[in-house]
Amino acid sequence: MIRMNALKYVDSHMDDLISDLQKLIQQPSVSAKNEGIEECAKLVQKLLKSSGLKSEILRLKKDVAPIVFGEIRSKCNPGKTLMFYNHYDVQPAEPFDLWDDPPFSGIRKGNKIFGRGSSDDKGELITRIKAVEACLKTTGDVPCNIKFVIEGEEETGSAHIENYLKKYRKKFSCDGVIWEFGYVDSKNRPIIGLGMKGLLFVELSVKESIRDAHSSLAVLIKNPAWRLIDAIKTLRDSDGKILIKDWYKEVTPFSKNDLEIIQKEPFDETVFKKEFGIKSFVGNKKGMDAKKALVGDATCNIAGFVSGYIGDGAKTVLPGKALVKIDFRLIPKMDPKKQVLRLKTHLKSKGFSDVCIKVFHGEAAARTISSDPFVSHVKNAADKSFGKSILNVSNAGTGPMYSFVEILKAPCISIGSTYMFSRIHSPNEFTRVDLLKKTTKCMCLIMDNFGIS
Ligand SMILES: [Zn+2]
Repeated sequence: MIRMNALKYVDSHMDDLISDLQKLIQQPSVSAKNEGIEECAKLVQKLLKSSGLKSEILRLKKDVAPIVFGEIRSKCNPGKTLMFYNHYDVQPAEPFDLWDDPPFSGIRKGNKIFGRGSSDDKGELITRIKAVEACLKTTGDVPCNIKFVIEGEEETGSAHIENYLKKYRKKFSCDGVIWEFGYVDSKNRPIIGLGMKGLLFVELSVKESIRDAHSSLAVLIKNPAWRLIDAIKTLRDSDGKILIKDWYKEVTPFSKNDLEIIQKEPFDETVFKKEFGIKSFVGNKKGMDAKKALVGDATCNIAGFVSGYIGDGAKTVLPGKALVKIDFRLIPKMDPKKQVLRLKTHLKSKGFSDVCIKVFHGEAAARTISSDPFVSHVKNAADKSFGKSILNVSNAGTGPMYSFVEILKAPCISIGSTYMFSRIHSPNEFTRVDLLKKTTKCMCLIMDNFGIS
């Protein structure tokens, strides 16, 4: 049995995994500041090679972070390919003074390794590389073809991933993708994510007069803040339902299977409410409705509203303009381009053609259907490695999953080693050694299950 030996290999080579992860953390790679990107790409390439994979650095054009590509073909099963999608860039480490140790130290304290990127995403990446190494070193082969696509712009919004996928469509072709992150909850259960919501980010603004005026003139000059409030009041009702015509037109309801998965998903309303200091949810949702909303509701959220004077004390001013930033979470089948048109038509038809719309970002939702065999391969591997696992129909957040599903025509699933409270994007980010080990084994088992099927 190839599997047992590979799992034993993982157990006996944890020190190597940890020291390689520390090397990765010690190489800063902050995409927002273009700090160490090229150096980190080279380091990742080196790690792939020393674990037995072929690797090359792919480029789109100048000033775009390269993708590190890794590949190993299977001798026993060359007809199936599993891809690992990861990123080697990290969030900025600021504020530096809130870190207990330097942010790029990679210091180990007991079961924890600290540093920017330790969980997100260098910790995830190392488990996958080492899982492939474990198979290669113990069997001289991998259970299926393996590809790595490791990008360097994830933390700034993956601006070029779609272009990369299009340019290297053939090189990247695969039958399934393991997504870059995966959370483990407070009871050590990995959450197997089958999808992500989409996002449409817009700015609406109203300009009335050419400058701010004395507020006594509010009898004559219209206030753009009121105007904008009137406009955005028409977008959504107080229960969160979006009132734009045809907004939900293409959306299909949850399948029976999805509903069963949602039912089983743990969600502690009381703890959640306490965490945020809130008394009730939008629309007074409870129980199953709250869980369904997290997985599958669209949103129209005011991210920020600016107008007039908001400093200390009083200032009787009539602002000349008002501006609101809104993010809409999109659910499967909602096309961001179509939704923008619907938003524009809506505002016009409600008499708000003076409201300017600026679109910042549009990304569709993606979801792997829960009955796909890939789901049971991953679930089986996770249960074996962690003892238990949780299926999640869709993450409430957004990522470029749709591009992968659409261009590569392959299902995507997220599973990984990131402890829910590992402070990713914050000071003192850490990863847990016990979870790195379990996840590396889980990746071995996923490759095995995927290869056999
Ligand atoms: Zn991140």
